Amino acid sequence: MSAYMGDVIRLYLRDLIDWDSYFNWRKGEDGDLEVDRAALEEVLETAAAICEEQEPKLRAGWEQIAKLENGEVVYPPHIAETLDKLRDAGLISFGVREEYGGFGLPSFVANVILQMVSRADAGLMTILGLQAGVAEDIQQYASEELKQQYLPRFASGEVMGAMDLTEPQAGSDLGAIQTRATEEGGRYFIDGNKIFITNGGCEIHLVLARDHATFDQSKGTTKGLSLYLVPRTLPSGERNGVEVTRLEDKLGIHGSPTAAISFTRAEGWLVGKQGEGFKAMLSLMNNARLGVAAQGVGIAEAALKVALQYARDRVQFGQPIAEQPLMKDRLARMTLELEGSRALLYRACALVDQNHAIEMALGRAAKGSGELSEAEQAELSKLHERNATRIRLLTPLAKYMGTEAADDISREAIQIHGGLGFMAESEVGKLHNDAIITTIYEGTSEIQVSFALKEIGKGALGVVFESLEQELKAFEDPKLKEQADKVLEGMQLILGSAGALLADFSYAMMSAQSLAEVVASVIAGAELLKQAQVDPRRFDLAASWISRRMNDLESRCKRIKEGSKERLGRCDAIIGLND
Ligand SMILES: Cc1cc2nc3c(=O)[nH]c(=O)nc-3n(C[C@H](O)[C@H](O)[C@H](O)COP(=O)(O)OP(=O)(O)OC[C@H]3O[C@@H](n4cnc5c(N)ncnc54)[C@H](O)[C@@H]3O)c2cc1C
Repeated sequence: MSAYMGDVIRLYLRDLIDWDSYFNWRKGEDGDLEVDRAALEEVLETAAAICEEQEPKLRAGWEQIAKLENGEVVYPPHIAETLDKLRDAGLISFGVREEYGGFGLPSFVANVILQMVSRADAGLMTILGLQAGVAEDIQQYASEELKQQYLPRFASGEVMGAMDLTEPQAGSDLGAIQTRATEEGGRYFIDGNKIFITNGGCEIHLVLARDHATFDQSKGTTKGLSLYLVPRTLPSGERNGVEVTRLEDKLGIHGSPTAAISFTRAEGWLVGKQGEGFKAMLSLMNNARLGVAAQGVGIAEAALKVALQYARDRVQFGQPIAEQPLMKDRLARMTLELEGSRALLYRACALVDQNHAIEMALGRAAKGSGELSEAEQAELSKLHERNATRIRLLTPLAKYMGTEAADDISREAIQIHGGLGFMAESEVGKLHNDAIITTIYEGTSEIQVSFALKEIGKGALGVVFESLEQELKAFEDPKLKEQADKVLEGMQLILGSAGALLADFSYAMMSAQSLAEVVASVIAGAELLKQAQVDPRRFDLAASWISRRMNDLESRCKRIKEGSKERLGRCDAIIGLND
């Protein structure tokens, strides 16, 4: 049994996700839950075994970078070999549904695989993460013809995908995109330059481009952007106008090729509706954000494992440093940060899965399957809507928490190694270098917390807190109930400060990070208590999270409530001191 397949993953497979409803909604029949669940467990065990086996090679090859040879991107050998192993096991494109030749794996399982791959090599994870995200977007938005043409090839790994958004002047601000799509007799041609494109040497590019017909009117906004599938090879077999012009040399994730791409009269096929490309891309980005959260959790797991082992082995002042109270506190904090982020991620994934399954049940009902009464359909639609609101808030929070945790934990792991942590060959140094990018791509941490704030402004907190309150009030065990009451108190403090905050948008933006932290604290607190309910060994973890986080929450809420826009002016004055 692989060490990558931790107990907490099993808790979610066995107790913490309602797989019964999931499979019933998905399939529309009473299947054999145990068989379905065992199949998921087997997929995860397979992924875990491959990742664990490949980890030493991947870590040893960490410095080797992808190369550009005669216009073709060549992966380093350790990346190519592991990709082949995953491809051979059918683990190359997780969400592609059965009718297109895939397994249609739930988001929870797909993200746990990404987490395992990232634990072994965060660079390799980016290639798989985009493969899954691009295929998912094609599945959700492309015409049936495009789906038939490409999805089976994604599922088999014959083609790989990239997401092409960023341009030199358009990073966080995608309204600044200038790549142009011109329509000629029902065909579309793309011209422009993209930068920082992960796996840019691949066959299929999903490109966000501005439509020529409305180029000037829509400039500076995300309106007028459409999404195009741009293959490197045209269906005729000729080369399309897609060229990798450069590969970047980076601080970390060296095995992941990061490319500059030039599109010259490259033919593209519209995915989704014209002018609604940003919406379609947001859906890819939201999936990818959970993927990057999983990447963070994987890196954090790896760094914590190495740090813990080192702290137990390294003797100073006559005893292992792990026995020093300061170190114990640090290692416990690192574990809490990892588990809190994981709790948030798994909860978000479970909601995404529930909604996918509901969509399938409602889709069959709309075609007259007769399996749901009208009242049941209305009830499910309501649940879907509420879940969608919860997902819109939990996704940026999970991305923010998971990636910041990776950054913090890997940095702490260096500190635990003392001088050795700073040596070029330091394993935790490599993990930290990989962690840094996770808080930047797929929307920086600043962008994630501002997205969370916007969702809170639209009323998401009410929906999320209503569900949390029900869960927290349901705990009967006195120990769990006592902790749940503390989280309920924390929620009241947040509600008391968020109202004041939202009255002034520029001040609200200034406090977006604090608000994200406190909201994430209560959601993760409730989730950790649910874990403790099914596995009492996790009680101390939940209680410690709640104790530390509720103290922090109190002071943050006080600061949010007492603050005002004047703080912005004070920032200007402070920053100005060094002008
Ligand atoms: C290794 C790597 C792989 C990548 N892969 C891809 C890919 O596959 N596809 C793709 O399209 N792109 C990719 N990117 C691009 C990545 O998504 C962008 O770098 C990222 O979105 C940030 O954009 P930027 O670099 O232009 O930074 P900027 O947007 O210029 O941001 C600079 C700083 O300003 C902050 N900032 C910006 N706006 C605000 C605001 N409104 N409020 C507060 N702070 C703000 C940011 O948080 C950041 O700290 C990749 C980048 C890297 C480095």
